[in-house]
Amino acid sequence: MERPITGFEFDSEGDPVAVLNCGHLQHVRHNPPFINRPWVTTEEGRNSMLGEMLNCVRCDKFELPDHFVAYKRTPDFTEESLPVALRKDHSTRSGVWAKIIVGEGRVRYRVPTLEADMELSPEKIGVVVPEVPHNVEPLGSTRFFVEFYRAPV
Ligand SMILES: [Zn+2]
Repeated sequence: MERPITGFEFDSEGDPVAVLNCGHLQHVRHNPPFINRPWVTTEEGRNSMLGEMLNCVRCDKFELPDHFVAYKRTPDFTEESLPVALRKDHSTRSGVWAKIIVGEGRVRYRVPTLEADMELSPEKIGVVVPEVPHNVEPLGSTRFFVEFYRAPV
């Protein structure tokens, strides 16, 4: 999916890396004549690309960024206490990932725009991608919670 560039870093070899607002990093090398990104060689050029969109395949693959940290969790939900709002499509805000962690039973987790429809269990965690609408549905008796992740401060 398309994600805006929020900044730039350099990897250990000095190659430029775009930081996207989902937390993922993406190399943006200038390596003519194969890869032409002359803008990446100057600070002015890089600044001019802030807010531009890059396609992030890691978001499409539900990859929670490795360096993100947990900062908050919901109470335990059961099939009876799960708020109606979570059963309908909803999403986390920009840059906020989450894990749906099932302690008992099973939960159906649907992400229509990513064509995902999965069954979560104590063996299978669900990953919530920032800003992507999703919904959950208890399958019988269950207990689970949601843990939120963001970039380290
Ligand atoms: Zn991403």
